[in-house]
Amino acid sequence: MYGIIQAAYVIAALLFIFSLRGLSNQESAKSGNIYGMIGMAIALIAAIASIKGGLHWIIIAMIIGAAIGLYLAKKVEMTQMPELVALLHSFVGMAAVLVGFNSFLDQNSLHYIHQNEFTVHLVEIFVGIFIGAVTFSGSIVAFGKLNGRISSKPLSIPYKHYWNLGAIVVSVILMFIFVKVQSGVGATISLLVMTIIALVFGFHLVASIGGADMPVVISMLNSYSGWAAAAAGFMLGNDLLIVTGALVGSSGAILSYIMCKAMNRSFISVIAGGFGSDGSTSSSSDEEQGEYREMQPADVAQTLKEARSVIIVPGYGMAVAQAQGAVSNITEKLRAMDIEVRFGIHPVAGRLPGHMNVLLAEAKVPYDIVLEMDEINDDFPDTDVVWVIGANDTVNPAAEEDPNSPIAGMPVLEVWKAKTVIISKRSMNTGYAGVQNPLFFKENSYMLFGDAKDSVEKVLQNL
Ligand code: NDP
Repeated sequence: MYGIIQAAYVIAALLFIFSLRGLSNQESAKSGNIYGMIGMAIALIAAIASIKGGLHWIIIAMIIGAAIGLYLAKKVEMTQMPELVALLHSFVGMAAVLVGFNSFLDQNSLHYIHQNEFTVHLVEIFVGIFIGAVTFSGSIVAFGKLNGRISSKPLSIPYKHYWNLGAIVVSVILMFIFVKVQSGVGATISLLVMTIIALVFGFHLVASIGGADMPVVISMLNSYSGWAAAAAGFMLGNDLLIVTGALVGSSGAILSYIMCKAMNRSFISVIAGGFGSDGSTSSSSDEEQGEYREMQPADVAQTLKEARSVIIVPGYGMAVAQAQGAVSNITEKLRAMDIEVRFGIHPVAGRLPGHMNVLLAEAKVPYDIVLEMDEINDDFPDTDVVWVIGANDTVNPAAEEDPNSPIAGMPVLEVWKAKTVIISKRSMNTGYAGVQNPLFFKENSYMLFGDAKDSVEKVLQNL
């Protein structure tokens, strides 16, 4: 039986690797998901088959878990996906903490193993609980920030990096005490104190990161959750959990790195909780910017009719308003009038990478007119009309013009270079990063206020 289970683990691990490979591009993403599902089913069956006793508890837990999972998967909106993912990461963190405490309480059964192995096991427990606790509280804060219950502004307490460093140093000292004492009250207390420190550390780490860097935080927590799972694998002596955790941990770290590069952020700075920035969001772009001009749907329709080239730049607001269908209809209409229409997509537009591409594809907007930021950014000066629909941070010129802006250095779509810019949103409120947008006050900019779907439909009627 042992051999069969190990073989099943190897097959599952291979399927997970195929799954990651498949997820690396849109056409193969579906098969990637299927590989992952089959791999997980094999892993679950093999893990259950290896259990001695207590099966009914596992089945009850799985039924409850599966019911909650199915309900959430059906109910959750696309715009809420990152929140859900953050919450799921917190479960992985919590699981690693529970596995760690369980292994500690159960350690008497391990006394027969060699002393060195026992020491390694204690270190595994300690590190596993530490990573798990950081992942747990960090993910809860990320969840709160994404659904708006916690402010997206970075928390900035004095000497914050010293507090972080202090937390790590104290935890390392506690680990030496824990490994030396090995059991009893002393070991339990050092483990508990470290857990509290790690929870506060995780909270602080994510709370210190500003709204604009949240995409990186999500993938970073994804990576942490992988390491937490790998740590749990070491504690339980489960090879598949180690492999799977390492796959998730390293792919999350690579994704975080790629995203940091795309957003011109320092990787170390983001993973260290905004290291290198003073966390201030006060900048000249927060100040009064002057007058803005408004356009009515009829004027927008007229401006579009007179244009030869139009670029539509969608953002989070288009997703919330579910305006993609109306946007697709208006695109068809304009193209039928011989107007060139293209889309400019920022890598972090919306609330998850690829968000806009998925919505536009669902609404049957042809792939070939949907261009990435790098492909379209040079074309704005030759464009007659740019229509920004529910986007804000991703088109903010302050990123290029104001070195004190919290989003300074982040690449943005240079929409203001077009002849006319129309911005559809409901108010003059800021975007997710909480920074005012000087674009709205530029001489060639016009605001079209209202819900994105209503606005687009009204313009369509006027066409
Ligand atoms: P933003 O959050 O910058 O702006 C969206 C704008 O849409 C808001 O200013 C809002 O203005 C408007 N809006 C909201 N609802 C509606 C509606 N019903 N109708 C019309 N307008 C609406 O979005 P972007 O897509 O430009 O930028 C994404 C931001 O999210 C970046 O800061 C990014 O870092 C962050 N982020 C991205 C993630 C990712 O992985 N892609 C993950 C987490 C965060 P108003 O209220 O006035 O209507």
